Amino acid sequence: MANKTMDMDRPSPSLPFDNTYARLPDRFYQRLDPTPVSAPTLIRLNVPLAEQLGLDPDWLTSPDGVAMLAGNAVAPGSMPIALAYAGHQFGNFVPQLGDGRAILLGEVVARDGARRDIQLKGSGPTRFSRQGDGRAALGPVLREYIVSEFMAAVDIPTTRSLAAVATGETVWRETGLPGAVLARVASSHVRIGTFQYFAARRDVQGVRDLADYVIARHYPHLADRPNPYRGLLDEVAARQADLVARWLLIGFIHGVMNTDNMSIAGETIDYGPCAFMDSYHPGTVFSSIDQDGRYAFGNQPRMAQWNLARLAETLLPLLGETDEAALQQAQEGIDSFVPIFQAAYGNGLCRKIGLSQAPANLDIAQQLLEIMAANEADYTLTFRRLADAAENPGADAALITLFTDATAYDAWALKWREQLAQEATSAAERATAMRAANPLFIPRNHRIEQVIGAALGGNIAPFETLLTVLVRPFDEQPEFADYATPPLPEEIVQQTFCGT
Ligand code: AMP
Ligand code: MG
Repeated sequence: MANKTMDMDRPSPSLPFDNTYARLPDRFYQRLDPTPVSAPTLIRLNVPLAEQLGLDPDWLTSPDGVAMLAGNAVAPGSMPIALAYAGHQFGNFVPQLGDGRAILLGEVVARDGARRDIQLKGSGPTRFSRQGDGRAALGPVLREYIVSEFMAAVDIPTTRSLAAVATGETVWRETGLPGAVLARVASSHVRIGTFQYFAARRDVQGVRDLADYVIARHYPHLADRPNPYRGLLDEVAARQADLVARWLLIGFIHGVMNTDNMSIAGETIDYGPCAFMDSYHPGTVFSSIDQDGRYAFGNQPRMAQWNLARLAETLLPLLGETDEAALQQAQEGIDSFVPIFQAAYGNGLCRKIGLSQAPANLDIAQQLLEIMAANEADYTLTFRRLADAAENPGADAALITLFTDATAYDAWALKWREQLAQEATSAAERATAMRAANPLFIPRNHRIEQVIGAALGGNIAPFETLLTVLVRPFDEQPEFADYATPPLPEEIVQQTFCGT
């Protein structure tokens, strides 16, 4: 089936595509249209997001709109491209990865004035597909939709999900699965691996063009600096440090922090085998392909900094007049990650337990994590119920049920209450602030599995319900109380899969 361009005579919306990336040199991408699918049907459109982007939700749900979201028609103004990039996958460098199953339709300038990419994921093979089919299965598409929208709801920088479309086609993984296409929105799709693609080819001009592009698009204030490329490294370091701190504070494990999955704009990107912890342990790993725990929960800051060092290497030819000067700039940029991460994480952790700024209160927060790990305490509920306990010690009873040994909590709580007593705020104010820092609802793995299972059986309602709950994660929603509870022993998900 050939890809058709939309009929220009029909009352079609203005789709204000502008394609700055496609104006970069040819070697940055492959120009190609998505491969049409046989029977596209819309699973869900993210109406508030469409509106933020200045896109007409009515048109997007019309047959023409769905055709665009499925990749069956190319909207006027769109110039679809598959981006070239490389990357370190679990520490091993692969000089060419690229968009093997994604196509960038173009960029739009959203209502907030910021430029956003609209990309289709699962849109057919490209030059970068290697052995892959270029397609996505329904399950991973729904997972990414749910988790990315939750991340947005808890104010963690992330790519967004604009729409999910069923293709009516079967994709073959271990078994035949229904196919789907995700329309993804991102501040950009430039990754650390994009820089590595050019650096690996000793294409210094490519690295420079890319760096200049990123500075103009994401960090325009750097353009006038004496050393804008050092500024770029520092900005990416700061954004990544802040991002990973936020992941830790919410119990998120990305699962595949390869350099091709780390956004230069500092957004969480590429939700594959990602997962949220139920009971706390820093060594937690869910991904079936992360055999050595490289991307275990507590390793994420270290790995983010490792990735940053790979970015710094690509920038070396731009960082200084001499090798020595460039190396020093690179090292300083890499080192800048640590204090920013520590401050963001330390302050965030203290906020979670109702205490003012780290580092003064950091010890007591760390001690809580230690007893949580030793007692298999549920990460989300422990902090949430701590808000109740901060207001009323009678609420300790509900909290200690989360610990295998209740006495561990009692001893800690004594010290915690001494610290709380030093705070200037009232107990009620503290509890409110803690509830705003500690969501009640997270996308628990067993819930995601249930939703996907139902969708595979043709029932999309549980997906809709879960999303309804998760876009208000801080609010008590008594009618959905079950969604807050940890899995029963038989519901526990041990492993997650890329599903690619
Ligand atoms: P990921 O692990 O999802 O970040 O993907 C790593 C690389 O594999 C990227 O270059 C992807 O585009 C590519 N890839 C993943 N799944 C597929 C697929 N089904 N078909 C083609 N390429 C794929
Ligand atoms: Mg990826």
